[in-house]
Amino acid sequence: MEIEVVLTDILQPKIQNMKLFNQKVPETIEVKGKPLICPVCSNEYFWTRKAQLNTSTATFFNLDWANRSATCFVCSECTHISWFLG
Ligand SMILES: [Zn+2]
Repeated sequence: MEIEVVLTDILQPKIQNMKLFNQKVPETIEVKGKPLICPVCSNEYFWTRKAQLNTSTATFFNLDWANRSATCFVCSECTHISWFLG
Protein backbone atom coordinates (compact mmCIF):
# COMPACT_ATOMS: atom_id res chain seq x y z
CA MET A 1 0.00 0.00 0.00
CA GLU A 2 1.48 3.27 -1.09
CA ILE A 3 0.61 6.33 0.89
CA GLU A 4 1.52 9.74 -0.37
CA VAL A 5 1.02 12.96 1.50
CA VAL A 6 2.19 16.10 -0.17
CA LEU A 7 3.48 18.65 2.24
CA THR A 8 4.54 21.99 0.89
CA ASP A 9 7.88 23.04 2.25
CA ILE A 10 7.26 21.38 5.57
CA LEU A 11 9.97 18.72 5.55
CA GLN A 12 12.73 20.92 4.27
CA PRO A 13 15.81 21.35 6.43
CA LYS A 14 15.12 23.45 9.46
CA ILE A 15 17.83 25.89 8.52
CA GLN A 16 15.66 27.10 5.65
CA ASN A 17 12.65 27.80 7.81
CA MET A 18 13.02 31.54 7.68
CA LYS A 19 12.75 31.50 3.91
CA LEU A 20 10.04 28.89 3.55
CA PHE A 21 7.61 29.93 6.22
CA ASN A 22 5.60 33.06 5.80
CA GLN A 23 5.49 33.65 9.51
CA LYS A 24 8.45 35.46 10.97
CA VAL A 25 7.99 33.89 14.37
CA PRO A 26 6.14 30.75 15.50
CA GLU A 27 2.83 31.37 17.25
CA THR A 28 0.81 29.86 20.04
CA ILE A 29 -2.17 27.85 18.75
CA GLU A 30 -5.52 27.40 20.41
CA VAL A 31 -7.65 24.30 19.72
CA LYS A 32 -11.11 24.01 21.21
CA GLY A 33 -10.26 26.81 23.60
CA LYS A 34 -7.11 25.10 24.89
CA PRO A 35 -3.54 25.97 24.02
CA LEU A 36 -1.88 23.44 21.74
CA ILE A 37 1.19 21.97 23.45
CA CYS A 38 3.72 19.77 21.70
CA PRO A 39 3.32 16.18 23.02
CA VAL A 40 7.03 15.57 22.53
CA CYS A 41 8.78 18.58 24.02
CA SER A 42 5.93 20.57 25.63
CA ASN A 43 6.70 23.59 23.47
CA GLU A 44 3.80 25.99 22.85
CA TYR A 45 5.02 27.66 19.66
CA PHE A 46 4.19 26.33 16.22
CA TRP A 47 4.55 27.11 12.55
CA THR A 48 1.27 26.80 10.66
CA ARG A 49 1.14 25.02 7.29
CA LYS A 50 -1.54 23.68 4.98
CA ALA A 51 -1.08 20.18 3.58
CA GLN A 52 -2.84 18.55 0.65
CA LEU A 53 -3.77 14.89 0.93
CA ASN A 54 -4.11 13.23 -2.43
CA THR A 55 -7.18 11.24 -3.40
CA SER A 56 -5.80 7.75 -2.78
CA THR A 57 -4.62 8.75 0.67
CA ALA A 58 -7.98 10.24 1.53
CA THR A 59 -9.69 7.06 0.33
CA PHE A 60 -7.32 4.86 2.30
CA PHE A 61 -8.21 6.70 5.48
CA ASN A 62 -11.90 6.72 4.54
CA LEU A 63 -11.79 10.49 4.37
CA ASP A 64 -13.64 11.02 1.11
CA TRP A 65 -16.02 13.26 3.02
CA ALA A 66 -13.16 15.57 3.90
CA ASN A 67 -11.89 18.30 1.68
CA ARG A 68 -8.54 16.54 1.51
CA SER A 69 -6.59 19.31 3.03
CA ALA A 70 -5.18 19.45 6.51
CA THR A 71 -3.79 22.10 8.75
CA CYS A 72 -0.43 21.25 10.23
CA PHE A 73 1.12 22.86 13.24
CA VAL A 74 4.85 22.24 13.32
CA CYS A 75 6.55 22.49 16.68
CA SER A 76 9.19 25.21 16.49
CA GLU A 77 11.51 23.23 18.76
CA CYS A 78 11.39 19.56 17.73
CA THR A 79 9.40 19.86 14.43
CA HIS A 80 6.80 17.36 15.60
CA ILE A 81 3.71 17.83 13.41
CA SER A 82 0.19 18.04 14.83
CA TRP A 83 -2.42 17.40 12.12
CA PHE A 84 -5.94 18.76 11.92
CA LEU A 85 -8.25 17.87 9.06
CA GLY A 86 -10.25 20.51 7.34
ZN1 LIG B 1 8.08 19.80 20.14
